[in-house]
Amino acid sequence: MKVMKFGGTSVGSAARMKNVASLINDGEDKIVVLSAMSGTTNSLVEICGYLANNNPEGANEVINKLEGLYRKHINELYSTEQYKQQTIELVKDVFNYLRSFTKQLFTSIEERIILAQGEIISTNMVTNYLKEQGVSTHLIAALDYMRTDKNGEPDSAYIKEKLTDVLANSPKVQIYITQGFICRNINGEIDNLQRGGSDYTASLIGAAVGASEIQIWTDIDGMHNNDPRIVEGTTAVRHLHFEEAAELGYFGAKILHPTCIQPAKFANIPVKLLNTMEPEAPGTTINNDADPGTIKAVAAKENITAIKIKSSRMLLAHGFLRKVFEIFESYQTSIDMICTSEVGVSMSIDNTKHLNEIVHDLKKYGTVTIDHNMCIICVVGDMDWENIGFEARAMDAMRDIPVRMISFGGSNYNISFLIKESDKKRALQALQDKLFNN
Ligand code: ADP
Ligand code: ASP
Ligand code: MG
Repeated sequence: MKVMKFGGTSVGSAARMKNVASLINDGEDKIVVLSAMSGTTNSLVEICGYLANNNPEGANEVINKLEGLYRKHINELYSTEQYKQQTIELVKDVFNYLRSFTKQLFTSIEERIILAQGEIISTNMVTNYLKEQGVSTHLIAALDYMRTDKNGEPDSAYIKEKLTDVLANSPKVQIYITQGFICRNINGEIDNLQRGGSDYTASLIGAAVGASEIQIWTDIDGMHNNDPRIVEGTTAVRHLHFEEAAELGYFGAKILHPTCIQPAKFANIPVKLLNTMEPEAPGTTINNDADPGTIKAVAAKENITAIKIKSSRMLLAHGFLRKVFEIFESYQTSIDMICTSEVGVSMSIDNTKHLNEIVHDLKKYGTVTIDHNMCIICVVGDMDWENIGFEARAMDAMRDIPVRMISFGGSNYNISFLIKESDKKRALQALQDKLFNN
């Protein structure tokens, strides 16, 4: 059994949906995970924004516009009146349901119900299209088996048990379609796995059914060695270790959501990144094998804040770091990078919700300095410390760029630099030229 996930870009129009249908109809058993059509989740977020601000007219305007767009897609997708009408009715019900939220109290429960509708529509559209084409297929509802636990983390044991049940009680077909992103939480309410979370769904399903492979299909030919939206001359990386892919996903290579690595790695199921526009291309394979001595790729994560605490009392004091970390923990703020010296410690965070409180509490222990609008540049590859020269090559590429922090040795797979956001493009291009294009 294979798991194939198609992102919003791959189901972004009627033509793209037809393309997906031809890719999945290859005679093999599979579960297909779909995102919402591209742009839809953003529109649903916009609707929620209006509702949160008590502006039902604004919400209705977005709802009407989105419904019009879906009408157009549906008219293009189906060739028979039967399936066209059936899908129009279904989508009409979803949009009327969305309208009902403009007349009632709006809380985070309603918000999560609204955000779930994009995947519900896209999976119904593709299932109906496959049926119209005479393909034997069945839609299974993610809300029947995908679930998070009391910590908001996917409950793997529950997912495995329920999904096995759902499949056993479904008609026997080759192609099961299901929704990415959406789930229920511990209270049974509709919830989601965070933005971009359809990749996570695919990997959780792959692990639950012991899939032979998890394929993530998108609009580009695999993970590139640098951000193709910013840097010139990037090329696809053909192979990554799970840890390398996780670092890249976390540090901004948007093609793969970082959470999706862990379940696949744990179950030792290879993940393939493939291109819907060029299905025959090899893409990127991610598994547990390493490529000794190779630098693979560079990624960048913006909106980073650096915090430095300098304290003469820190000198040789044990327990200092614990006190500092406890402050971050008490405000549920996680630290990305950390560098220490005998007199100070610098950390970076990406969530500044509680920055003022954190700074206030840190001042008990020393002088605090903050740098905003920073960016982490992460170089990924086989960086085992016994290999020589990699750090030097990465640092050499950064020679003209002011560097606030450097972190190396935390894992075998990365060296990170903290720089100004305004230097990001220049740094990425310099690394591209020095590490890959010479
Ligand atoms: P989907 O809708 O299929 O999930 P996304 O838009 O979420 O697709 O993510 C894929 C996009 O991420 C690509 O179009 C590409 O421009 C961008 N991207 C960012 N960094 C990288 C990278 N290192 N390699 C490949 N693509 C990247
Ligand atoms: N539709 C959701 C989003 O746009 C989930 C996903 O596409 O992965 O974030
Ligand atoms: Mg995505």
